[in-house]
Amino acid sequence: MKKLILNGGWLLPVSSPPIKGGTVIIEGGTIVYVGKSKDEPCEADSLLGGENIVLIPGLVNAHTHLELTAMEGKVGKGLSFKEWVEAVISYRGGMSKEAVDNSIRQGVEILISNGTTTVGDFTSTGRSASILAKLGLRGVAFNEIVSFREDASQAAFKGVKDRIENGKKTTGIIQGIAPHSPYSVSASLLRDCHNYAEKMDIPISIHIAETGEEKVFIDTGKGPLRDLLNSLGKWEESWQVPGMSPVQYLSRLGALDGTIGVHLNLIDDADIEILKERGVSVVYCPGSNRWFGREKVCPVERLLAEGINVALGTDGLSSNSNLSILEEMRLLKKEFASIADEEILKMGTLNGAKALRFGDIGAIETGFRGDLVGIRLENQGGGPYNFLSDTKFQVEFVIIGGKIVYKKH
Ligand SMILES: [Zn+2]
Repeated sequence: MKKLILNGGWLLPVSSPPIKGGTVIIEGGTIVYVGKSKDEPCEADSLLGGENIVLIPGLVNAHTHLELTAMEGKVGKGLSFKEWVEAVISYRGGMSKEAVDNSIRQGVEILISNGTTTVGDFTSTGRSASILAKLGLRGVAFNEIVSFREDASQAAFKGVKDRIENGKKTTGIIQGIAPHSPYSVSASLLRDCHNYAEKMDIPISIHIAETGEEKVFIDTGKGPLRDLLNSLGKWEESWQVPGMSPVQYLSRLGALDGTIGVHLNLIDDADIEILKERGVSVVYCPGSNRWFGREKVCPVERLLAEGINVALGTDGLSSNSNLSILEEMRLLKKEFASIADEEILKMGTLNGAKALRFGDIGAIETGFRGDLVGIRLENQGGGPYNFLSDTKFQVEFVIIGGKIVYKKH
């Protein structure tokens, strides 16, 4: 069995306190030892690390859109949300199958070289699972569904169920479902997707309360998103205007329990209570909010204080300038000075694993899968969490299941 020994000036297991001078041994893809560096020589197939390396669990990007990687820099900043959606629809519509595959591949490579070892990817084609598996990244392929008109809903639902069944043939990647949002999926389909996820016991994720436009639309049935549906010919005359918040709407539909909610930027106390009751995991995307120049963002501190599981996501390169959870953790630290470094690293690892339902990743523990990242710290004066403050500390190597999938030098 292949044996890999990793040494670090610091080891940050996440689920237990930091260890100064730590060693991790991975055998057959699983972590078999975590502790102080052993003095006696130990035989291994590979040896990695050193005094200037901090070892952390593989990072978990709980929300992205790999199909849109090629959109990096293609959409100008300063657009309204409606204009941005139109730009994405137009660009995406012009992509060939090959372009989609290349985009996914390129995204996976960026993720791995930035220390991500597990991803939650929204896919409208179902093509990401086989590419993730081939390139050795773990993940959930959230098969996305968009259909606001009731007369098109059942055909769209059948299409997504077929994609999920087909995707199950790809080993190692979990199939999930992603009704896109409360403003782009019909009420009946939101319910159907939720019931299907429960019945099949698969993860479900949905963008919720991302923008003011969404809030206005769900509350009044008016505004730019109504105009967008009209102009696309997707408006549904029979839709009953909910007259409430997006969180309340999904909850009332019975489409919220156990979901992975993405964004949750515009929520109030009543919404937070519902998220807690319904066992929702929240994925916060700081880089995407910054890209759009949003001032009001998810109340992360409140959610954490309420015991809600909060993970991190990059969203796609159509609304971010990178796909790095390391960078998202740094942005979070700048935005929320009161959140401890330990908690930030947990959001980028263990909380993401919990959201995506992996019970044995996101921490460095014996019995967990051998997914680790080595970060080079040139100067450890500021302590082992220096990499959360300073971009000069970079990913040196990435291990998934005991395999070295990225090495800088
Ligand atoms: Zn998204």
